[in-house]
This record gives sequence, C-alpha cells and structure tokens, in this order.
Amino acid sequence: MLGWVLFSEKDLFLRFTMSAVGSVEKTPYALGGALTDFTAVSPQISEKLFLILRKKFVTDVSTRIDTPTMGAYVPFLRKALETNPYLFIYLKFYAECLILSCSDKEKLQSVLREFLSEEIADEFLPSMLLTNDADQTAEWLATVIGKDMEFRRSRTKSHIDDIVSPDSSLAKYTPAQRLYILKCESGSGLGGSFKMQISSEFDFDRNANLGTVKASLIDNPCTVMPEFEINSPDDLIALELLYTVKGELPIKKCRLCGEYFVPSGRSDSEYCSRISLGENKRCAQIGAMRTFKGKYAENPIYAEYNRAYKRNHSRLRNGKLYDEEFRDWSAAARKARDEFIAENKTVEQFRLRLTELEIE
Ligand SMILES: [Zn+2]
Repeated sequence: MLGWVLFSEKDLFLRFTMSAVGSVEKTPYALGGALTDFTAVSPQISEKLFLILRKKFVTDVSTRIDTPTMGAYVPFLRKALETNPYLFIYLKFYAECLILSCSDKEKLQSVLREFLSEEIADEFLPSMLLTNDADQTAEWLATVIGKDMEFRRSRTKSHIDDIVSPDSSLAKYTPAQRLYILKCESGSGLGGSFKMQISSEFDFDRNANLGTVKASLIDNPCTVMPEFEINSPDDLIALELLYTVKGELPIKKCRLCGEYFVPSGRSDSEYCSRISLGENKRCAQIGAMRTFKGKYAENPIYAEYNRAYKRNHSRLRNGKLYDEEFRDWSAAARKARDEFIAENKTVEQFRLRLTELEIE
C-alpha cells in the first residue's frame, strides 16, 4: 500500500509512512492542482530527479559496508513531497526499489509488478536484468520506473483533454459523465476500487485516543472527510480527477505553455503560475506583460498618443513648451488614452480629444 488520501472541498491530504519506523505524515495539496502539476512535469525534470537518487545510491553502495536504508533518502524525498505528491510517490518507490535490490532482490519483481502499470510491466519485466553492478541495476530501475511515470503522465493528460476540451468526442456530456465513460474503457487506469473510511483532519495520528480527539474538536473547526486507501498511482489519479470534477473546480489550459492548471486565485486567469523549461519567469508574469503590451500596442489610439507625445516632447526640447505645460499635457493625454481604450472609443474620437488638449 502507498498510503491514504483524504479529500476536503479544495484540498487533498496525502497520508503515508515515511520510513521503516512507520511515522505517519500528512501533507495538503490544492485539489486538482496536484494532478495538473504532475501532467506538466517535463521528462527532463523527472529524469534529473531520478538521476540524483541513482548517483546517491551508487555512492552509498560503493562507500558503505552495510546495506543502505531509506533514512538516507528522507531529506531528498521531503523536498519532493513539498513539490508534488505524484513525483514524491514515484521517487519514494524508486528509492525503495534501490534498497530492495541490495537487501531482497527476489522480492523486487513482485513489488514492481504491483506498482507499475500493466503496459509497462508487460514490456519490461520479462527481460528484467539485475546484476551485482549497483549502477547498472539503478539505471535499469530508473528507466522502467521513469517510463511508467511518463506513461501515466501522458495518459492522465489525455484524460483531462477528454474531460475539459470543447473539441472532445465526448463534448456532449458533462465533465463528470465524461470521466465515467473514460473509466469504463479498458486500460484507462481509472477502474480501481477503493477501501474508504470516515476520517477527519485531526485523525491522522492513529494512536490518539478518543478523549484527546474529542477535546481538541471543541475549539477547532473540523472537516469530516472520506479517506481512501491507495495502492497505486492510478488510485490517486482516479480519485483526484473524480473530486476535482465533482467539485466543479475549473481545469484550464495555460495560454502560454499549453499545460493544464487549476487556478488557485481568480478563476478567470488564463496563465498558470509555473516556470516553464528554459524560462526564468512564471507564465502568469510573462502573460501579464504580453496582455498589457498586446492590448495597447495593437490599439491605434496608443499609436496616436505616441505620435502626439513625440511631437510635444520635441516642442519641449526646443523651448516651445514649459516643463509644467508638458507635464500637465502628458498626464491628461495619458489619462484620455487609457479611458478611450477602456471604453472602446474610436481613434477619431481620441484625435478630437487631443486637439482639445493641445497647447497653443
Ligand atoms: Zn503555463
């Protein structure tokens, strides 16, 4: 089992055990945001993350006599956990497989069979190659687990396409109906069945006694939520899709990078808040600049204002206008420009206004 997932209205909480000692941890993510972020992870980024673990493992094996343990990977995994639950699940699984390749190689095949999607397992497991060379093993595992992640990532993206796109062949159905139809298709990964229990956000400590819980509930607003056991990444994908669609959260396609996102603030935002590969600004920042420039630069009123500005600025330089006159004029002209653009007035109307403002 990978862990449990709880759903409140706008968040999901992932609960899982982090290391062999069995500490239970709970982390909140924006509902829909976690899944769409996963579909936007570029293969280059995930390859890099797998490589970090692989290098660490090879170094650990070559410098240590005893078998590496999960504890060594916890700091790295915690960072992944802050970023995205799906990335975290994959990286944690990779780390577990690396350790298993030292401690219990026999078990590895069945563990992989249980986690991987059928398509990837059938393709790679028959030719599973585990030697005593740590780097070779780590490389093979990274390839297979990485392929599985890419497979599920792109399958989920096409599910979201089918659910939200107006061009989808399922366009005549509601998003929730579309999800149901997709679920019924074989190989969708959405057909899991789930063990569910009634839970609350205060309920993550399995050992807390009822008296303590009841006492803490009096002063705390508490959400009672369904909690599901998840046994594979598909379980989490299916459940997050269901709750996002049922909660009618907007799933939008970023106008810049083309990836899906669920707006965390204004629901009419058209750009995601991720930093695309090769960029150093967020899509939303680049988008805001483009909208501004686009809106203005394409408007003939803007060009007309620029011409008038240049003309009066040269009058100022030639001593034909006083500083104050120019300052007042440009403030008034700028105000008129923005108003006329906002009110969709014509360039002719703006020209008339400029004539009125002109200083003799
Ligand atoms: Zn974007």
